[in-house]
Amino acid sequence: MRVPLGLAVAALFFAGCLETPANPSEANAAVVSSARIVVAGQTLDATDGYRFDGKLAAGSGDACGFVNCDKAVFELELDDAFVAANQLKLEASVRWHFADDVSYKIRLLREGKDVDQADWNSYASIVLDEDPKPGTYTVEVIAVQGKARYEAIVQLEARPKAAPPREIAPNLVGLAPDELTLESYGDVVPSSVARGCYSYEIIEQGARRCLRVSTALGNAGEGQLQVHMVPLEGAKAGAGMGRYTQRIFSTDGSFRDVPVGLGAFHPTHRHFHYNGLAQFTVYQYDLDAEKRGEQVAQSRKNGFCFVDMGLVALGLPGTTYSGNHESACFTPRQNGGWITGISPNWYDLYWNDLDDQYVDIQGVPDGTYELVFMANAEKTIVETTMDDNEASAVFSLKNNQVKVLKRIDGFGAH
Ligand SMILES: [Zn+2]
Repeated sequence: MRVPLGLAVAALFFAGCLETPANPSEANAAVVSSARIVVAGQTLDATDGYRFDGKLAAGSGDACGFVNCDKAVFELELDDAFVAANQLKLEASVRWHFADDVSYKIRLLREGKDVDQADWNSYASIVLDEDPKPGTYTVEVIAVQGKARYEAIVQLEARPKAAPPREIAPNLVGLAPDELTLESYGDVVPSSVARGCYSYEIIEQGARRCLRVSTALGNAGEGQLQVHMVPLEGAKAGAGMGRYTQRIFSTDGSFRDVPVGLGAFHPTHRHFHYNGLAQFTVYQYDLDAEKRGEQVAQSRKNGFCFVDMGLVALGLPGTTYSGNHESACFTPRQNGGWITGISPNWYDLYWNDLDDQYVDIQGVPDGTYELVFMANAEKTIVETTMDDNEASAVFSLKNNQVKVLKRIDGFGAH
């Protein structure tokens, strides 16, 4: 939660928990475009958006009540020339950390009437007004499960109507890992044989001391990550290998297809994975100097099937509703191929209790280390930049206890 600029003013505009007054951030009254959000007595550039955050506890229902809901009321002001020249979309989003056991829904109203509302999709909720008009809008952020922090934004996206079509590739990013542990869930394996590992990992991969980790692979680009897979000859449903092509879109909806990597059926996840997407490397770490030292362990390169689970950051261009669901990982399209992907600004999350979400740290002594997650590890997916694919968590290891000390995102806006 941020410190409010003016509690008295904010209280007029925000109903809900007193702990969580939100405030306009980085109000820059000097530079305001021809679209404005007026909130809590301040005028903001609507294309920069209005950000707020807080921490709410779920109530008995999912309606906006006193303790479970923050309400932001604002005026949207649009100049006629700006409206004529741009395609506009008003977006309100709420996101929360994947390690928190909480869910928020979000609702958008204009002049007191519902425009859009959305239940949570794992770690984010988003609502849109595809035809925004000047007037009074209300955004309700409603806790429906648990109690944890959220961050939210209301933002106007403007695309010049006259702009020539351009290609919009995805941009894979790593989000800082979390939930590091040497505990396994469910499997009963004596610690003299292995620690933190599942039977599959022990038998198939020779794992002995599994540092498990939850990692998120995001798409911070304006364009869809979309891959199409056709099983290779000889592969049957539920077994074998597949070949992927990546579909790269332009702003006008046209696209080109590029042959990319291979996939394989994963025996315990029970779906096809795009191979070679992620790798975990553990380095020694000097906490005082904030410096990475020698490499001490490295995982195999893991594959995934893609699903939208949460938002990479707030305020990224091209943010849309989630379009990729888990069902696409298990059910082929009618032509026998699979189509999966990650929508612009969404991330896919791989929990630490999934098979393969580990790096073997057998023989690594107690100390301070950095676990680095590398997205697009084999560089086969076409993306705008590889500079932001790495993210990490600094952790201490002592008597088989793991404690996360610092999380470092690859993508700066997170
Ligand atoms: Zn999988």
